[in-house]
Amino acid sequence: MARILMVASEGLPFIKSGGLADVIGSLPFELTKKGHEVRVVLPLYLKIAQKYHEDFTHEASYHVNINYHEVPVIVYSQMVKDVKYYFIEHQGYFERDALYGYMDDGERFAYFQKAVIELLNQLDYWPQIMHSHDWHTGMIPVLCKEAHGFDERYRSIKHVYTIHNLAFQGNFGVEMLDSCLGLDYRLFDNGNVRYDGGISFMKSGILYADKVTTVSPTYSQEILTPQFGEHLEMVLNMRRNDLWGIVNGIDVEYWNPKQDPEIPYHYNRVNVAKAKKQNKLALQKEMGLHEDEDVLLVGVVSRLTWQKGFYLLLEQLDALCALPIQLVVLGSGESAIEEKMGQLQDGNRGKIAFYCGYNEALAHRIYAACDLFFMPSLFEPCGLSQLISMRYGTLPLVRETGGLKDTVIPYNEFEKTGTGFSFANYNSNEMMDVLRLAIEVYYHRPQDWKALVRFAMSQDVSWEKSAYTYCLLYKELHL
Ligand code: ADP
Repeated sequence: MARILMVASEGLPFIKSGGLADVIGSLPFELTKKGHEVRVVLPLYLKIAQKYHEDFTHEASYHVNINYHEVPVIVYSQMVKDVKYYFIEHQGYFERDALYGYMDDGERFAYFQKAVIELLNQLDYWPQIMHSHDWHTGMIPVLCKEAHGFDERYRSIKHVYTIHNLAFQGNFGVEMLDSCLGLDYRLFDNGNVRYDGGISFMKSGILYADKVTTVSPTYSQEILTPQFGEHLEMVLNMRRNDLWGIVNGIDVEYWNPKQDPEIPYHYNRVNVAKAKKQNKLALQKEMGLHEDEDVLLVGVVSRLTWQKGFYLLLEQLDALCALPIQLVVLGSGESAIEEKMGQLQDGNRGKIAFYCGYNEALAHRIYAACDLFFMPSLFEPCGLSQLISMRYGTLPLVRETGGLKDTVIPYNEFEKTGTGFSFANYNSNEMMDVLRLAIEVYYHRPQDWKALVRFAMSQDVSWEKSAYTYCLLYKELHL
């Protein structure tokens, strides 16, 4: 049993912009089930304040030094299923419309991390392990070891740092080292936190943590190479003996086609075929697609970015439109992709539907109604959508990279096994070949399709196994 403090920039049920929030919403509770005492710290964003503030308990009020000024910090808490969540309040920094993407993101998250470090002192709460996630929290181990290294209470904390997406690194100007973080320039001069003339939160987290993890075994190997290492492959190679790859799970209570309140027709492995057709007809009606329960309905629920492989799709638009399928896309992101998707819908009314934006309820209905889920990512640290798809009997079509490779078993036409379809190279012709294979199986080998759906739905995509592996990792540090 260990006392673990998770530090992250987002987490369910409070706030979500991507897969990190799902992890922070599930992993802490799973760890408490295994006997650990887990707490979580998050920034208090506007959307959280609007919805939850009245239920909060005040925990502490204090100041941290940012830009040579004493800046106030107020901390609240709330319990969710045996896990205590702390919220760092600063209206100027966090009560904004979006979570990230501001000019002062470096200062905002420097403040957040300093507030977290001081919180331990204020509460006289000393975790044995601090588990920090992604660039927003990369300086946590540095602050403990360098700024507070003289203090045994901080020095004895062990640090786990999890990379959810190496592409976002939190690189900022060197002046922030002193002005916002209160750290010595020595750390820049000796190279510890230096990156490309400035400082990097991500690099610092990787170097200073006692263990580094990422969210799938394949991605943990890929990031050691220049192709996936985002210029940090050398640093990661230095830490390769402490680098673990642990696949994420999903919350199988929340993502459950048997009782999902967002979907019109509930189902399990036995009645999936019939209920899926009913869900399909309902979604087709909702999204303005031709109502046809037999057509192969392909779904996408995703951030619309280059990472997710949309350029492969855009390369093959004409070929795609000629296929005997319908396509429903839910997502938002890069304006070029959003625009193209809008045009595609306009030119193919009834066949292609596009919802631009974030819509949790619609995502559930898409997972339930579709036959195939499309995820041809350029890279994918873990990916949750393919796990959700399998749980809903929607076969994922993926590129063999990162967590997609670790979690989707490709169709084997000889053994009639698999949980989806996959292709190896980032190449749109390969993608189309495997899409055509999926179409062939759907229309002409219905028994094979049925077997794949059943097999996909019986995969264990819960947190159970992953949480167990995290426990092994903590044990290595804690004993
Ligand atoms: P990433 O974290 O890289 O965005 P993941 O596959 O790990 O990708 O997690 C994405 C999560 O966000 C999934 O739960 C997916 O259903 C959800 N999601 C993505 N885009 C949307 C959207 N536009 N509306 C609703 N849910 C979305």
